[in-house]
Amino acid sequence: MVRVPLGSREVLGVVWDCPATPPEGLSEAQTKPVAGVLEGLPPLNERWRQLVRFAAQYYQRSLGEVALAALPPQLRELDAEQLARRLKRRDKKAQATEATTPQPVTGHDLSVEQVQALQALAAATEPVLLYGATGSGKTEVYLRATQAVLETPTPDGEAPTQVLVMVPEINLTPQLEARFRERFEPAFGAGSVVSLHSGMTPAQRLGSWLAAHTGAARIVLGTRMAIFASLPGLRLIVVDEEHDPSYKSQEGARYSARDLAVYRAKVETEALTSEALAATGQAARQPCRCQVVLGSATPSLESWHAAEQGRYQRLDMPGRIGGGALPRLRLVDMNHQPKGAAIAPPLLAAMEERIARGEQCLVLLNRRGYAPVLSCDACGWKSGCPHCSAFRVFHKLDRTLRCHHCGFTQRVPRACPDCGNLDIAPVGRGTEQVEEQLAQLLQDVKRPDGAPVRVARMDADTTKAKGSLEAQLAALHSGEVDVLVGTQMVAKGHDFRRITLVASINADAALFASDHRAPERLFALLMQAAGRAGRDAQHAGASEMWVQTWHPEHPLFAALKRYDYPAFAAEQLAEREIAGMPPHGFQALVRADARTQAAAQAFLNIAAEQAEGLPHRDDITLYPAVPLTIQRVANVERAQLLVETHSRAALQRFLGAWQPVLHACRSAPEARGLVRWAVDVDPLSL
Ligand code: ADP
Ligand code: ZN
Ligand code: ZN
Repeated sequence: MVRVPLGSREVLGVVWDCPATPPEGLSEAQTKPVAGVLEGLPPLNERWRQLVRFAAQYYQRSLGEVALAALPPQLRELDAEQLARRLKRRDKKAQATEATTPQPVTGHDLSVEQVQALQALAAATEPVLLYGATGSGKTEVYLRATQAVLETPTPDGEAPTQVLVMVPEINLTPQLEARFRERFEPAFGAGSVVSLHSGMTPAQRLGSWLAAHTGAARIVLGTRMAIFASLPGLRLIVVDEEHDPSYKSQEGARYSARDLAVYRAKVETEALTSEALAATGQAARQPCRCQVVLGSATPSLESWHAAEQGRYQRLDMPGRIGGGALPRLRLVDMNHQPKGAAIAPPLLAAMEERIARGEQCLVLLNRRGYAPVLSCDACGWKSGCPHCSAFRVFHKLDRTLRCHHCGFTQRVPRACPDCGNLDIAPVGRGTEQVEEQLAQLLQDVKRPDGAPVRVARMDADTTKAKGSLEAQLAALHSGEVDVLVGTQMVAKGHDFRRITLVASINADAALFASDHRAPERLFALLMQAAGRAGRDAQHAGASEMWVQTWHPEHPLFAALKRYDYPAFAAEQLAEREIAGMPPHGFQALVRADARTQAAAQAFLNIAAEQAEGLPHRDDITLYPAVPLTIQRVANVERAQLLVETHSRAALQRFLGAWQPVLHACRSAPEARGLVRWAVDVDPLSL
């Protein structure tokens, strides 16, 4: 890492290569010397550069952009002196923590399934897909695998072994961090576990990054951005809840951190094996030197398919710790319920019964706010957003109409802005409304201690303030709250002990969505939600998962009833094979934003016309440009063009060749008003 002059400034640069002569087209006179290296920092190693190179190429971005985005922002801002001070402080801290005597690592006695999984993992020669039910003790497997890596001695002069553990959401990092700290800090020191995610301050991020880069941190926990951490001693990568869409970046380089994890482990393994080969002269099929574990109760169809083909090794942990069963599924046919009821009477009765026994209930719906639309009965006015092709959501607490796409917020009008009618009414329901209604419906129910029922809500609105999520989780754990209403945020990962009833009250939209991944996501969400119930084996037998639906005969529910993910996956994969969809086909999207829809589409269609004659053009289907489902956001019109093929290699070659064409098409007269465009390789939603 170096500082280089750029105009009148000095900026951070990474030395990628040292050619003897200046690159073609550049004369000696046009080049400038490097201003200085970042003193005290070891260089980024070749494996890291290989990862970045691959990511840039695969996701069709420039190398410099990806490399710089992979480094902590503050590294760009500190001058030599500030950096030196920073490093000195680090060293001092490290010395202080080294003084304490290491304690042995302790943990649970392992279940038979855990022991088998760990043995298989240690011997695995392929990426491992850990297919384990919620509550089967996957985290314990990660902890033990981590321990094994950290206890592996390294020869003098080699970087100490390191582990990267990724989770989909920032919300989940504090819990996981606590578990890892508790387990490993006594043995490996106070600085041995660090986090890396976008919720940290720039200074914290730099601190974690430096700790990882210098080898002081042995374990890095983080969200998708952590995949680019510099980890010279990397020997294990864990991707928890590997099916989660948040592993795919939606801006800049649209990388999949899960897919990069598999690639990274391969690069590390190859480098390490070739080093060993050079040292010992022996070539043998050894277990991976850098393992990668993808864990999930509902793996992505991509990973499931890879395991079926033998590219990944699947390890199963079907049993829950303590032997508890998953909750019994109860489908409520909404066709036979009183009209307009948010919570069907039998579900309400079941909740009352639970609360009276001192148990907790979780109610899920995927919409925050009070109601998704306000509407005027007299003239048909609806609370549309003036800047987007979407409705603004009614938030009753602060009486606002808020656009969830562009953020545009206004006070709720007292009367219809179009006709003056005073009677404007909410249509549909969000978490705020369900919380309000449940509090009302349950007001006469008593807890075992005689106190009234407490209903709480947890979603992006209630957890915005720092520390509020932790406080809300604590209230749930301590039993203060009886019913928690929330968005999918509450379905993920949390280890709630006293929840015995989980209800999903409006899941139907996903059954018929145009997005072919919607059913997969719904199935994963409901499985995950079900996993929140009955985690305490004592109650597990009696726990229930309720789903309100207008389509109880839908095949998805038949598989869900048996919690039969393999059957569901087989059926989905068969459908995808017929349709040539991933993982049986490969896709990319080109998205374009412009002042007008016509310009956005013209840019895409012209670029498609000019793709004639490019390599692999005949293997590729280019569809006509179409507007996005939400066509306009913040006054920008959005369109996209789908690229489809049966071969990943063909897609890569074609996209690479198409890049310069796309660049050139920006200046086509028809594309006037184009704001930006981007390629999304392996897009998650169409
Ligand atoms: P998963 O990640 O598969 O959903 P967890 O790892 O969170 O499951 O484990 C569920 C619960 O079981 C946790 O409270 C954990 O502490 C506990 N647990 C895990 N392994 C064991 C074990 N071998 N013995 C006893 N308890 C365990
Ligand atoms: Zn009106
Ligand atoms: Zn808007």
